[in-house]
Amino acid sequence: MNPRIVLKRGKEKAILAHHPWIFSGAIARADDALDGGTVDVFDSAERWLARGYYNARSQIAARVWTWNDEPIDRAFLHARLQRAIAARDALIDRAATDAYRLVNAESDGLPGLVVDRYADFVVVQFLTLGIEERKDEVVGLLQELLEPGGMYERSDVDVREKEGLAPAVGVLRGAEPPNLIEICENNLHFLVDVKRGHKTGFYLDQRENRKRVAEFLRPAPHAPEILNVFSYTGAFAVYACAANSNARVVNLDASRDALDLARKNMRLNDCDARGEFVEGDAFQVLRRCRDASRTFDAIILDPPKFVHSQSQLQSGLRGYKDINLLALKLLKPGGTLATFSCSGQVSAELFQKVVFEAATDAKRDVQIIAKLSQSPDHRILLSFPESEYLKGLVCQIVA
Ligand code: SAH
Repeated sequence: MNPRIVLKRGKEKAILAHHPWIFSGAIARADDALDGGTVDVFDSAERWLARGYYNARSQIAARVWTWNDEPIDRAFLHARLQRAIAARDALIDRAATDAYRLVNAESDGLPGLVVDRYADFVVVQFLTLGIEERKDEVVGLLQELLEPGGMYERSDVDVREKEGLAPAVGVLRGAEPPNLIEICENNLHFLVDVKRGHKTGFYLDQRENRKRVAEFLRPAPHAPEILNVFSYTGAFAVYACAANSNARVVNLDASRDALDLARKNMRLNDCDARGEFVEGDAFQVLRRCRDASRTFDAIILDPPKFVHSQSQLQSGLRGYKDINLLALKLLKPGGTLATFSCSGQVSAELFQKVVFEAATDAKRDVQIIAKLSQSPDHRILLSFPESEYLKGLVCQIVA
């Protein structure tokens, strides 16, 4: 028998609707539940609801493994991992793309676990204590199921602190990844630093959006000038150049290292001669472009997360509005803006409203030509709205 947690009256609704999180405020009693251990969840009338793992240190005090009465053992983990991997096998054209998310945590029924493939390597994040406790089992199963050349841990994420865990980075199995791994994404080539890069090395969630955005840049009649703001390692720039052989792209980022890698990536795809690399703060550089009356045919805005918590919502929205306002002013009539937000707290509706406000202030009439989300390997679980975080709009300035 597992230790039990009993919910307060009326707090069972979300769990009954298969939301996988139980907040500490919803729990009436946690009896002898152990941090990181398995617990059975009951409603206030002591009816069994679900089985999950517990951590009193976290505001998300429990996360659900299953709504069925089944043991959380090796066979359970094996089945969940296999299901997630099989879903990607069916989705990804491996001849064109060898870097993608294999396991997307709660959305794949594996709370706190992220697994990304980069060519022959696998990069793993253990985000919570409950999954950390299963690390050996998970690593062994991934080795069996994927047989990678090497498995590397990138559990250097802020959320671990909330779980009472220190960051953890290093080789889990097999070979240490080289400093740069070459991956293939939609038949384009990129060097990825899985040991020091953002997230697990690359923004895999933008894969399909890079393709879509580049398609809109194709028909430009002349040599289009594109500004890739928050370029990181230049992925959008490479796609744009591949789609339009006349395109020129200015990559703008605050990180010198990211820009150095962007240059290498453009070279790898034979388009570095059409790239420019500007180090600086996006807000300042865009203002300077405005003051110099510089214009562009297309601008890509893929900023870092501006809103990390509800308390940052207003300042974050101001950030999104400012950056979009500046970009809209720099676009030529008929120009294209691809604008994104990866802040989970900002809904697609709210983001569209912010872009609308920016357009009004910029005195531009704007048409939406596409609405974008995260790539489908970054599964969104319908009963877990928190798993939907990336949204984008491709807009055209009415000439
Ligand atoms: N579009 C990229 C991902 C962007 S990630 C891709 O497809 O791979 C966000 C980037 O914004 C990071 O590279 C970070 O260095 C950069 N950044 C963060 N704050 C910035 C600022 N104020 N000015 C310019 N760049 C910034």
